[in-house]
Amino acid sequence: MDRTEIPLIHEIPAAGRRGVLPPSAPPEDRNTAVEALPDHLRRETPPPLPEVSELEAVRHFTRLSQRNYCIDGQFYPLGSCTMKYNPRLNEKIAAMPAFTQLHPRQEEADVQGVLRVCHDMQEVLKPLLGLDEATAAPAAGAQGEFVGMSIIKAWHEDHGTGRDEVLVPDAAHGTNPASAVLAGFKVREVKSGPDGRMDLESLRANLGGKTAGIMLTNPNTCGLFEKDIVEVARLVHEAGGLLYYDGANLNAIAGRARPGDMGFDVVHVNLHKTFSTPHGGGGPGSGPVAVSARLAPYLPTPHVVRGSDGSYRLSTPEKSIGRMLAFHGNTGVVLRAMAYALSQGGEGLRAVADHSALNANYILARLPEVFERPFGSRCMHEAVVTVRGARKEKDIRAFDVAKRLLDLGFHSPTVYFPLLVPECFLIEPTETESKDTLDRFIAAMEQIAREIESQPEVLASAPNELPTGRLDEAAAAKELNVCCRF
Ligand SMILES: *Cc1c(COP(=O)(O)O)cnc(C)c1O
Repeated sequence: MDRTEIPLIHEIPAAGRRGVLPPSAPPEDRNTAVEALPDHLRRETPPPLPEVSELEAVRHFTRLSQRNYCIDGQFYPLGSCTMKYNPRLNEKIAAMPAFTQLHPRQEEADVQGVLRVCHDMQEVLKPLLGLDEATAAPAAGAQGEFVGMSIIKAWHEDHGTGRDEVLVPDAAHGTNPASAVLAGFKVREVKSGPDGRMDLESLRANLGGKTAGIMLTNPNTCGLFEKDIVEVARLVHEAGGLLYYDGANLNAIAGRARPGDMGFDVVHVNLHKTFSTPHGGGGPGSGPVAVSARLAPYLPTPHVVRGSDGSYRLSTPEKSIGRMLAFHGNTGVVLRAMAYALSQGGEGLRAVADHSALNANYILARLPEVFERPFGSRCMHEAVVTVRGARKEKDIRAFDVAKRLLDLGFHSPTVYFPLLVPECFLIEPTETESKDTLDRFIAAMEQIAREIESQPEVLASAPNELPTGRLDEAAAAKELNVCCRF
């Protein structure tokens, strides 16, 4: 809409201002709607809105915004989420009017630039993952899983294998079994061994004539590399199944190891994790999917391809599983990820993986003893520790420690995941944190360790120093009350 078409506030009849119709509706419609409103539904007095100056309003909202915990302000060691810094350069590029003013229904010839960005993203991912074809369209990691599992399903149907079971390790992210079921599979659980890695005996016991595939994260959600991955791939392929790689942990190995070389047939990547685009609160993500050559004909439509004349167009692969979302994906996220990939380069991405593993190992090595290490003293880019000993001896739970960390100025790591370690934390510092920040986090954990020893009541009541105290989590979700102690 042209700006001049928006009526000024004093031109809108009072009823319109009270939200009967959006202020942008034409005056005729507004009047008719207002007249149609029964008397008993009309306000008799204006709503009780506070009368404050602009300055007071600005200060109020600025104060609220500063209460918002975010990666630009503080450390966010949320395991499995890769909460790294989001460089401003990415934001600038995604905000360029040449991209933001596009409409998804524009002709291909008019949107060659953004199609090229989607295509380039696909071209960056193929060699990085060691696979043959890719689509940048899926709008989240979980949607990438659904796309990938639907491709595996279509492949089995096409080949008349009659296979309908997918194996998922007990350590997997909850979206994995959910995506497999949504794609029409039955799920069988593979157990982890005491070392936090997949138990090959359990794998063998679950493989059979019904096996359509397996979904794996590597490094897995315990922050450990599946050392037997080549053997796992051989066993699954031999049994007639395909391998799906959940790429949420790609940050640990990007540029160092490739899922395609490990034997995976389908991979999703969370651009909003590994490729430094903002996420959290369910905000827009992007979960590109890469596949081996035999699965390329099943990719979803529209698929961005480059013609022999160098132009980009939207195509439908020969045996496509169909359309998975309204348009071409979250191109704003793809733009940010592409800016990140280009500014890092291959060497930069490899350094990202190295430093993310170094930072996680530094924390793991320095945490006090009460944070037990169930899987030894080495990890990849994230580390599991548990307070199960403190639970037994002092009735201190991971939940209490998480709440106390808030008092000390830190967002808690992921708690109670992976499910196979009781009272656990999954700590992922990422490569973008300085040693100074890691040291401050370790100091906070040391303080908590001392408190567990001598002042456990401080933990039981935490958080003690924040605007909101400890909530009844079930009631808070059901009876939302957004007012808190200011
Ligand atoms: C984040 C995550 C997912 C899901 O990705 P979304 O983009 O949040 O849908 C899947 N698996 C693992 C291991 C994850 O950490």
